[in-house]
This record gives sequence, C-alpha cells and structure tokens, in this order.
Amino acid sequence: MRIERRAFLRGALIAAGGAAVGAGAMAAPRLFPPNHLPFGGGYAPAADRPEFEVHGQVRTVWYVETDEPIVAFTFDDGPGPNWTSTVLDALDAYQVPATFFMVGQHLAAYADLVKGRLGRHEVGNHSWSHPDLAMLDEAGVAEQIGRAHDTIRRYTGREPRLLRPPYGHLGGSTLLAADRHGYDLVLWSRQMHESAYLHNEAGQVSEIVNGVSPGQIVLAHDVGAAERLVAIKHLGEMFAGLRQRGFRFVTVSELLALGRPKGISP
Ligand SMILES: [Zn+2]
Repeated sequence: MRIERRAFLRGALIAAGGAAVGAGAMAAPRLFPPNHLPFGGGYAPAADRPEFEVHGQVRTVWYVETDEPIVAFTFDDGPGPNWTSTVLDALDAYQVPATFFMVGQHLAAYADLVKGRLGRHEVGNHSWSHPDLAMLDEAGVAEQIGRAHDTIRRYTGREPRLLRPPYGHLGGSTLLAADRHGYDLVLWSRQMHESAYLHNEAGQVSEIVNGVSPGQIVLAHDVGAAERLVAIKHLGEMFAGLRQRGFRFVTVSELLALGRPKGISP
C-alpha cells in the first residue's frame, strides 16, 4: 500500500517536472481523478474540522517498543456462550490479565457471562454489531461506537478507552469517532492462525510461545467458528510457555503505559 502510494507520488512529480521542462509536452498530473471519493461526507474524510471539534491526535497502536518481556493478549467479538467462559477460566487458572474487545450487542445479550469476572481484565470497544466501519459514514460510525460505549459502561461499570475496529479496517469516519471518545485505536502485531493448525494444534501453541516478542499485542477470539478452539483449548499451554520464557502478561492500557517510543531511554 505504502509502496503503491510512493509510486503514485513519484509518477505525479515526474509528470509535473516534465510539464515544467517540456513546456506542456507532458500532461499535468490529475490531482482529482474522476473516480475520487467525496471530499466531504461518506466514510473517508477525516479533516476539515474546526480545532475545537477535535482533540488533536488519535494514537494508533500495533505494538509498543520495550525491552521488558511483556505481552498483551486480546480477545475479540464476545461475550458469547461459545467460548467466553472457557477463556475466562484459562485466564483465571493462570492469573493472566487480558483485554476483551467486546461487541456491544453481544454484551447486552450475554452480560451474565462476564458479570463479576472482569476484575483484572480490560474492556475495549469493538462496535455495536461488528459491521465494517470503513464503509460507514460519520453518523453510522458514531452510532456503532457510541452505542457500544454506553453498553460497556452500563454493564461493566467501566469507561472504555480503547477502540478496535472490526477487521482492522479504518476510514476517516472511524478516526473522527475515536477522537470524539478520546480512544486509542488498538490493532495487533500477532494473531492466532487456527485454520492453519486444525490438524496440528501443538503448532499453534508453538507459534505463539516461540514467536511472541516483547511489547506485542496478540489477537485471539472468544467467540466464532469451532476452529477458534484450536487456540482456546490451549491457552494454558501458551501462558505457561511464555512465562517460562520470562514473559509477563498485561492489559493493553498497561502495555501502552509501559512501552516507550523507539530510541528514547527511560
Ligand atoms: Zn471482530
């Protein structure tokens, strides 16, 4: 994506230079191609805000820089009857804190599953009904994020500070909604690959235990297709293996607080 954009920019610069040198021999660059997205409205625009309407920045995090062996496990899409309780049991057995990116309507339906069980865990916003936010305009995203925010507050008594957009898809409308709530946008730097290990579950364990590096955010799911069990059934082994490597488990907010920008000493 970045390379494509660079190539595009380089092409535009060459075209512009050619136009100057060759006295119009080359066509001027088309800065506004006919198929461009709308400049206002729709899902893409994130700019043209009066200063008082925005906070100034939205932090987007894939991992943090740190020498400390810390890692944040995250579980998306719950809560749900399959398999939120199993995940919570594994986290309890190993006293591991995690971050749950909850879908608002799932929490409203299955709040009992997590009631009294979120003690050391963190809860983030994963939208109300898990649509592709990158295809919704500002009003649509505001509804999805706002409704989930209120639901999380109502059922968990906590104010979410983190947003993970479904599928990791981002549009300008999501940036603006995140800014309005003062959220950090949390993506991931490692994820479970359950479908690749359907007949080799030990391989999934080994990929996590041996692959995780300090500061990473690991994506997993506590709701979904049966193949999710490839990871869920073996969480304990992953936790034990990572502890053996010296790793400590933290929530995403703890990870953000402990990490530091690259190259800056504490
Ligand atoms: Zn999701």
